[in-house]
Amino acid sequence: MTDFQPSSRPKVTILGGGLSGLVAALELVKLGFPVQLHEALGRLGGKAGSDGDPPLYDAELNPNPNLSLPAGVASDHGYHVFPAWYTAVRGLWREIGIDPEHDVYRGHIYHDLPPARQGVRQPHAPRPPPSIHQLAAIAELILQTDDEVEDLTLQAFLRSHSYAPRGQPIRLDAFLHDVLTSGARDVSARVVRNVFRQWLPVFARSNWDALRGSLAEKLIDPLERRIEAAAQQAGVSFQVFRGHRVLGLEPLPDHGLNVHLSDRHGRQLTERAERVVLALPPEVLRRMDSNALFRRAAGLSDLFYLRSHPYAAFDVYATIRLDDLPVEHFSLTGSAYGIRGFDISRKWPRLEILGRSVLQFVVGDSRSFGGLDNRGFLEVMSREIFRHLPDLEGRVACYVPHRNLDAPLFVNDVGTWQHRPEPVSRLPGVYLAGDYVRNETDATSMEGAVRSGLAAAEALRQACLPQARPVEIAEPVKVPDTIAALIDLWPDDPMAARLQCLEWVRSLFARS
Ligand SMILES: Cc1cc2nc3c(=O)[nH]c(=O)nc-3n(C[C@H](O)[C@H](O)[C@H](O)COP(=O)(O)OP(=O)(O)OC[C@H]3O[C@@H](n4cnc5c(N)ncnc54)[C@H](O)[C@@H]3O)c2cc1C
Repeated sequence: MTDFQPSSRPKVTILGGGLSGLVAALELVKLGFPVQLHEALGRLGGKAGSDGDPPLYDAELNPNPNLSLPAGVASDHGYHVFPAWYTAVRGLWREIGIDPEHDVYRGHIYHDLPPARQGVRQPHAPRPPPSIHQLAAIAELILQTDDEVEDLTLQAFLRSHSYAPRGQPIRLDAFLHDVLTSGARDVSARVVRNVFRQWLPVFARSNWDALRGSLAEKLIDPLERRIEAAAQQAGVSFQVFRGHRVLGLEPLPDHGLNVHLSDRHGRQLTERAERVVLALPPEVLRRMDSNALFRRAAGLSDLFYLRSHPYAAFDVYATIRLDDLPVEHFSLTGSAYGIRGFDISRKWPRLEILGRSVLQFVVGDSRSFGGLDNRGFLEVMSREIFRHLPDLEGRVACYVPHRNLDAPLFVNDVGTWQHRPEPVSRLPGVYLAGDYVRNETDATSMEGAVRSGLAAAEALRQACLPQARPVEIAEPVKVPDTIAALIDLWPDDPMAARLQCLEWVRSLFARS
């Protein structure tokens, strides 16, 4: 019997203080487990966090220590949107007291910002509604069974269904770049199907919501405070060790792991962790000295099939307020790097008072920047944004680059689902959390990270405290029953299912 009295619940060690690790920590202290969390960086949040003191580059693209961010402002790892189908994230928002009226900006549509002509900025316009070919492709995709889409990239799926006139590709990637962070070129048809199944039922709502402040200010700091308060309420400890880098993992004979770490002074130490949540990215687990781990937990070696790519971002602080920028998120149309932007100077109260534009950009295709240093990266990026925003040239006060080379993002490649681990590993006492761990969201996202953190905590509860109340995990958005019936009908009568599904998809977009 593996039950424990409240006073003798075993300590849980969490490795990695990103969103998934923090969410697991919250649920575990609520259940009365003492928690120790080790994070390599000096800050929490991982890819969903922000840097308070990042290197700043001046208008000549030189690092300039005399520059500083406005008081109380941190710079995000990259801007983050929260589509309406993020039910688990919204559960977390409620838990940490985010007020949807004051703390959240409601984003309804993306704008397209074309390149300038003869040095003059061109008007931006809301993204046009999908064509009939795109609607038909979306309708067909959501009907597919797992078998049909498991081994196809999205592009292969679209090419194998000939809706578009010859030579005119059905470009669904424009939509996908807006909601998916992984490179749309290799993305699997399966994950896109799953995203559309969750997204379409709520498509008429705001889909590009953002926080009115940095991720640190609005999400990660409140989450850390909530964990501390919950630990205090449960009478257990919550200890965070920043600057503790995990170097190696070695399975203990019966239960858990020996964790080899270096602390912030470079000293090496070993922690005995009988219950442990590995909330580390897959490439970190692969890289570390863990031969013994992979030998013992056979399934874990599947991590070697998963790929990650850097996903870069940067901020631009202007010296003036640029007139007539899109209020909503915008995409630099035709940009080879899939650049998307957002003017946070009109959303974040701490920046509104500056009276000058502050733009956040993410770079959808960052694969070609590996060989560049920060200056080279900013050179390419500034040329690209001036091509669309010529009025910004000569009016930049500072740049904040986030190339994120050391924190690449898991890519939802074709064929990866079968290799993604479950939250419960084959090693007793060892659980996994992270956006790459199997979860109902499927797509690499904060929603997936939150779900995986909840699932790891729930798995630990089931093992140690079977009588305690289960961890609450919000249901993902489900397609309406009528569409679920069409998905069932699809194998027997594809034509009827296809036509009715198209009608549904059409009506959704018409309404939104
Ligand atoms: C630029 C960018 C924009 C994004 N935009 C969105 C968006 O709009 N919407 C969305 O839903 N998602 C977005 N994402 C994805 C989202 O941020 C991630 O999916 C999510 O935050 C991952 O959380 P995680 O806990 O799984 O992993 P991580 O955040 O990677 O957490 C892992 C933690 O482990 C730590 N760590 C690493 N190595 C070690 C070690 N050796 N020892 C100890 N600790 C270690 C890391 O520092 C990190 O804190 C974006 C990502 C990027 C990069």
